[in-house]
Amino acid sequence: MRFSAVVFSALASSVALVSAAPADKLSAGLRLIKTSPTDPGTWVTEEDKISKYTAKNIGFVDITDIKDPEVLALLSTPSGKEVKLASRAITYPTSATHQTQANPLVSQVSTTNPQSWLTTLTNYYNRYYKSTYGTQAATWLFNTVKSVAAANPAITVTQFTHSAFNQPSIIAKIPGTNSSIVIVSAHFDSTGGSSTARGPGADDNGSGVVVILEALRVLANAKFAPKDTLEFHFYAAEEGGLLGSAAVFANYKSAAKKVLAVVNQDMAGYSPSGKISIYTDYVDSALTAYTRVIATAYTGTTTSDACGYGCSDHASARSNGFPAAYVCDEKMATSSPYIHTANDAYSTIQWPAVLRHAKFTVAFLVEASYL
Ligand SMILES: [Zn+2]
Repeated sequence: MRFSAVVFSALASSVALVSAAPADKLSAGLRLIKTSPTDPGTWVTEEDKISKYTAKNIGFVDITDIKDPEVLALLSTPSGKEVKLASRAITYPTSATHQTQANPLVSQVSTTNPQSWLTTLTNYYNRYYKSTYGTQAATWLFNTVKSVAAANPAITVTQFTHSAFNQPSIIAKIPGTNSSIVIVSAHFDSTGGSSTARGPGADDNGSGVVVILEALRVLANAKFAPKDTLEFHFYAAEEGGLLGSAAVFANYKSAAKKVLAVVNQDMAGYSPSGKISIYTDYVDSALTAYTRVIATAYTGTTTSDACGYGCSDHASARSNGFPAAYVCDEKMATSSPYIHTANDAYSTIQWPAVLRHAKFTVAFLVEASYL
């Protein structure tokens, strides 16, 4: 997760869609990043992305490889000004209606496996998407997701490879009786402030990873058979400017997949308030309202906040025209002070928060499987 506290007023005067990347910039290894809807883009090095933006909590999207004019247009559209898209023609329920089915599954959620998984994830020196550690962590996670999913042979687990870096994204799928898709997501890469720094990435975002993996474990063990297809997305390279999720959703857009909901979780293990926070910017307002209904029904009162441009992977779903929501462990002002440093350590994780998010995730998947 990165959040934009900085407003680039000097860049706010014009909207420019950069369609062709100059060969000299690319051959120099530079990347084009965008920090607001009105920012036409700035060429920076890979190292600067991490040390001058991510480490300073300035949100951005790496648009170097984005060629789709519709996506570029949405990346230049302010929050709340989204055009109406066909994929949003869904009407979400205004109350939770499947508690009888969801509650026994929600009660299966535990922190036992999440604690073990997060220990392994945080023991990698970092999970930077261009490092060998980041690739090793991706291999471990792929094998672990497969192992968890093996309880139900109907579940498929695939790697989604990326051409520009070695860390693949990972997608687990519980097939439904129809092809409409409900997605829960979390990025698994991490950074400690530079490409070579120690970056355990416990709250950001090992916590979100173990949350959706625990939900997959519960639903796989129960051989839960949904109406809608349920997918669990583990993204590479979020800290590099939402690269993994941008590629996955570009693929889904070109394949014209029908996505009913994308609920992204980035930071799920540090919550002084004890309340799930559902963010309201660069998301689909109708899905966000539904997400709040479900979170409230199963975990109690929620809070709200905004995290700015390019804050996490829900922005990639939005820019590809899919309804997205963002669920975080805390409001920004009281969220973990340790992210993007060596101090985002396992010892800072508050396990009641992880448990709360995992219960929410199971409940959301059961409820939304009927959308
Ligand atoms: Zn982050």
